Amino acid sequence: MALKLFNTLSREKEEFKSIKDREVGLYTCGPTVYSYAHIGNLRAYIFGDMLKRYLKYSGYNVKHVMNITDVDDKTIRESQNENKSLVDFTSFYIEAFFKDLDLLNIVKADIYTKATSFINEMVKLIEILIEKGFAYKTTDGSVYFDIHKDKEYGKLSGFDLKDLKENALGRLKNDEYDKENAQDFALWKAWDEKDGDVFWETSLGKGRPGWHIECSAMSMKELGESFDIHTGGVDNIFPHHENEIAQSECVTGKEFVKYWMHNEHLLVDGKKMSKSLGNFYTLKDLIEKGIDPLAFRLWLYTSNYSTKVNFTLETIKGAQVALERLKKGYIALGDGIGIVDVNYKTRFVEYMDDNLNTARALSLVWEILKNKELSPTDKKATLLDFDKVFGFGLDKI
Ligand code: AMP
Ligand code: ZN
Repeated sequence: MALKLFNTLSREKEEFKSIKDREVGLYTCGPTVYSYAHIGNLRAYIFGDMLKRYLKYSGYNVKHVMNITDVDDKTIRESQNENKSLVDFTSFYIEAFFKDLDLLNIVKADIYTKATSFINEMVKLIEILIEKGFAYKTTDGSVYFDIHKDKEYGKLSGFDLKDLKENALGRLKNDEYDKENAQDFALWKAWDEKDGDVFWETSLGKGRPGWHIECSAMSMKELGESFDIHTGGVDNIFPHHENEIAQSECVTGKEFVKYWMHNEHLLVDGKKMSKSLGNFYTLKDLIEKGIDPLAFRLWLYTSNYSTKVNFTLETIKGAQVALERLKKGYIALGDGIGIVDVNYKTRFVEYMDDNLNTARALSLVWEILKNKELSPTDKKATLLDFDKVFGFGLDKI
């Protein structure tokens, strides 16, 4: 069986075929560093990590790029509230983010791109968009993308430009808005007093980039004009990823990304965990409650990445017990390492090839531990093999 992945763009499970033989270019929308990540955000990074681990397990060389949004409306606003320079403010949360990744045993991306280091690349893209007639300047010096000029606009999130409300002839300076309000969006935001000392003097004038152009510039610079997989949470589908496609494809005339993959949300009481609703937990909150961050990882694997999951302390405590059982069971196998069991491996690959069915793959772990016929050394080799994908850190025990 071949690896099949659900592609948001085609709305189908598709057989995965990399653009270059055995090479994968993978881009994950990273954090906006204006506060600590909550465990909903971390679901997105665990998903990206699990996908990358499985691609590697399947024999691909993966180049993984993750951006860090260190300039946008939120980072500017919060740094000012704390009377800090943008760099000092965001550096603190970048460091906190990397600590979370370590605690979750997430393999580092090959490249982390900070938006503030790619301003020239963003300006270049915007200039091309103006030249080609896809973007226009307004009297205040900002630049907007004209969504009506892009005949394919809407293809990722699935709406037709013809269905837009009349007010869609307006434009939006904010980076975040919903589908009902789709309008021309900002590529370059002319400086205004609210931005304080955050601006760049460029050929477009004094200002700063919009959020969406950041990811187009960083991903294409590091992975080329067309690359294999782009990941993020489902809330990124619109407007962020829709706008990334529009900007990138209108510049290059080529397909930007072949497979778009999105993790569903982590919910609390049926609502999306988010900073704005205040219904969030950080990794630190879990640790203070005696939960190992890897138990959160294990708990996520019990559902498919593409289904919503409701977070409760009871269920995460259950995952903590399961993780301890796994570690104890693994230690009890002793020191010797035998060979990976072919039957279990075949089933593991079959489940993971089916759009990363971690729930079924994880069930094999419990089967292996209970198996009376398999030798302890072969059990150990098999568990270690699967752990290259699960990332429970069994090799470090
Ligand atoms: P942000 O730092 O807000 O840009 O979000 C970082 C990542 O977390 C993005 O991929 C979001 O789609 C994702 N995300 C945000 N909230 C949730 C949630 N409750 N569950 C799962 N993913 C989320
Ligand atoms: Zn992004």
